[in-house]
Amino acid sequence: GDEDSESVPLPLSSNSTSSRESRWCDTTPYASKKKVQCWLQLSNGNWELVKIITSSGTESVVSLPDGKVLKVHDESLVSANPDILDGVDDLMQLSYLNEPSVLYNLQYRYNQNMIYTKAGPVLVAINPFKKVPLYGNDYIEAYKRKRIESPHVYAITDTAIREMIRDEVNQSIIISGESGAGKTETAKIAMQYLAALGGGSGIEYEILKTNPILEAFGNGKTLRNDNSSRFGKLIEIHFSETGKICGANIQTSMCWGATISKGSAEDYKYLRQSNCYSIVGVNDAEEFRIVMEALDVVHISKEDQESVFAMLAAVLWLGNVSFTVIDNENHVQAVEDEGLFSVAKLIGCDIEDLKFTLTTRKMKVGNDNIVQKLKLSQAIDARDALAKSIYSCLFDWIVEQINKSLAVGKRRTGRSISILDIYGFESFNRNSFEQFCINYANERLQQHFNRHLFKLEQEEYIQDGIDWAKVEFEDNQDCLNLFEKKPLGLLSLLDEESTFPNGTDLTFANKLKQHLNSNSCFKGERDKAFTVCHYAGEVIYDTTGFLEKNRDLLHLDSIQLLSSSTCHLPQKFATQMLTQTEKPAVGPLHKSGGADSQKLSVATKFKGQLFQLMQRLESTTPHFIRCIKPNNLQSPGLYEQGLVLQQLRCCGVLEVVRISRSGFPTRMSHQKFARRYGFLLLENVASQDPLSVSVAILHQFNILPEMYQVGYTKLFFRTGQVGVLEDTRNRT
Ligand code: ATP
Ligand code: MG
Repeated sequence: GDEDSESVPLPLSSNSTSSRESRWCDTTPYASKKKVQCWLQLSNGNWELVKIITSSGTESVVSLPDGKVLKVHDESLVSANPDILDGVDDLMQLSYLNEPSVLYNLQYRYNQNMIYTKAGPVLVAINPFKKVPLYGNDYIEAYKRKRIESPHVYAITDTAIREMIRDEVNQSIIISGESGAGKTETAKIAMQYLAALGGGSGIEYEILKTNPILEAFGNGKTLRNDNSSRFGKLIEIHFSETGKICGANIQTSMCWGATISKGSAEDYKYLRQSNCYSIVGVNDAEEFRIVMEALDVVHISKEDQESVFAMLAAVLWLGNVSFTVIDNENHVQAVEDEGLFSVAKLIGCDIEDLKFTLTTRKMKVGNDNIVQKLKLSQAIDARDALAKSIYSCLFDWIVEQINKSLAVGKRRTGRSISILDIYGFESFNRNSFEQFCINYANERLQQHFNRHLFKLEQEEYIQDGIDWAKVEFEDNQDCLNLFEKKPLGLLSLLDEESTFPNGTDLTFANKLKQHLNSNSCFKGERDKAFTVCHYAGEVIYDTTGFLEKNRDLLHLDSIQLLSSSTCHLPQKFATQMLTQTEKPAVGPLHKSGGADSQKLSVATKFKGQLFQLMQRLESTTPHFIRCIKPNNLQSPGLYEQGLVLQQLRCCGVLEVVRISRSGFPTRMSHQKFARRYGFLLLENVASQDPLSVSVAILHQFNILPEMYQVGYTKLFFRTGQVGVLEDTRNRT
């Protein structure tokens, strides 16, 4: 067993034993100097609870649960909490706040279906991958009446409603986590609570029905989640003066290659690529019926519904359009088969126009308009770009119709609660353009999180003039600069290279290395790769495909084809596609690549959408929910410590608890404190001003000086201090 003595505690655990913290951890009776139980990390990375038999001060002899006895270095032991703290519902209550203790506490609760735990101000939700008996009207009622206090999405949502009414400030519930961690389910649970409390007008029913629609068109099966959202979503729910829901608005961001999973999938090439037509436990016919019904509920007319499905079919048939090479330069002609005819019919255009558009490109050289024939790969790109654009226009159009249906009436008060369900940080063995964009978005969200929880906290202490050594927190501004700086940032350089006709992924990678190597968040890697040091860890990106994915390959000719359509939706889409170009393109465009250079790149569009989302969040009071995926198999009851730990680190949960706890999280104005507890005073105070009364109360209850601070306007307390006063007050 000697190899076990080599085990080293994971790095973050050392953070949690700052002198400030241990000083006041020691005030709890359970954290005695003589450690009885400790955590020992085994060679497989898991932590085991061990008992100390003897200790020399540098080495200890410990016994494992299976009776085995080991001699280990003291540095490899991490303090464990006393049994009485097993399964506390707020990690702030742990005497020892190290990684194994947090992991154990969450697991202890998870095993008893208590999937929610507070981490100071943040709610941690661990995906149960099974039905848990925590939802429904009885629970909603209990949380509303505050008969249950345990952490829950309902409790967070309830707080948001109360604060919206009390402070007259818009609120937001920001849900993050990896793919498959449960964000979308959590958002739905929050919406259910809002609907139950603010319902009555009937509009809440419509709002709930947007979920199956958006999921049908914007979700797809991925390796990590059978029902993965391929788009980010912010739903803003508006309340009237009487606290009733009066409307809603949905904003989506970038749909990443949604796949369609309905119909006889085997017939369509786009669907065949996945080799997966059904998902265990999913009844396609029933799901389809639910979606159709939902489309009715949000007032999409039968006629429009038909157009929607025609467009879906057009996208699928486009995937089946094939080409034959007609000369030795690889130029092509579209094959006249069922696929081609169906596309022409469905988008309402002339078949010859369609053939021509898919295989040629109009260009202007000097003063002449010329027609260039496309080579096979170019024709395939043009076809796929058209399919993708139609799909994304369709998605946007549906969201637009939903928004019309949910539009806030005249009685709006401007008060709202927004729920953000957005793709979480991703780090895989191979990370591409999608991860690059998603992680950039998460970097922005993290800054929002930091600002609110830490900066605002600090500012409040400083404003109120209290003595509070600044707590260091990770600021990710450097990393954001790496992405956003002009002209030498990742996004600018990517856009620049994407517009060069001769730019390749390799020239892009080399440019990054040339210009960004001095940035502390950037590292050039071998070949076409580079590393970004994100707040959540380092990610190596492979630039293969970056330029192609960033360029919008949709030809102007394709947009013109759609605008020539006799049908209403394709015409709309053409207008929509044109407005997405930087300047409305005038007529056929110049040299090779010229047409595309006018269009906004994918990354730039994404950045624009992200900024819009952030702007909406900026003026709200945020509430954070961090979803955690306990295993990669989507299976219940399986809790993989390593996987959970990695996610806890990524979302900064431990950091948040440490900082919240080392500060003074409870605060009350002098007036409120004096009013609330003044009657408990046994002796009259000479002066009746709130500050004197407050100080007298603090003395009478022997609240230790290190447990509070007196600010100009407020009193600040360590965790748990006001509890004693509240107990006494309630007993009196
Ligand atoms: P993505 O980023 O890929 O969209 P996500 O975080 O939105 O992922 P969800 O789709 O919400 O993940 O959850 C994945 C699956 O986990 C759900 O389909 C459901 O089976 C299960 N799940 C999540 N939360 C719960 C819950 N509270 N109770 C029961 N099952 C849940
Ligand atoms: Mg989702």
